[in-house]
Amino acid sequence: MLDNKICPVCGKEFRQNRKQQKYCCPGCYDIAKKRREAEYYKLHEQEYKDRQKARSAAKRSEQTPSQPIIKVCPVCGKEYEARRSNQEYCCRACWTKADQRKRKAATLLMHNAIGSGRPGYVPPKRKKKAPAVSLDEAIRISRGRNVTYGEAVARGLI
Ligand SMILES: [Zn+2]
Ligand SMILES: [Zn+2]
Repeated sequence: MLDNKICPVCGKEFRQNRKQQKYCCPGCYDIAKKRREAEYYKLHEQEYKDRQKARSAAKRSEQTPSQPIIKVCPVCGKEYEARRSNQEYCCRACWTKADQRKRKAATLLMHNAIGSGRPGYVPPKRKKKAPAVSLDEAIRISRGRNVTYGEAVARGLI
């Protein structure tokens, strides 16, 4: 037989269904659990805060280089001190400029792609790739044409 018990949360008397049942209902169980957690947090608050602080400090040191990185901004050409190793531009304005340029280039590419579908559109000529020849063959050809190897390459003979 299980005894009647007093719920430590609401003080009501209840009949135990299970041997280890401490609370009258799941609601009281939840309240007790939250209280325990709050107490635990209070006890370990400082520890928890210290750990959090250490973690964010570690994160900061990861992002902030211990040695300042001197970089050259590709937009304005100025030297600047990078705060992060992956920083590319000296300031927000330069970043925006670079971004706009990139967007413009992308739009141009898109227009070209659309243009290729229009009637009368002449696609830009692609440079023909020289057929791969062996070095011996190349030298033989250059000799036959009475030019140096370099000239033969420059004239597209090889
Ligand atoms: Zn209760
Ligand atoms: Zn700049």
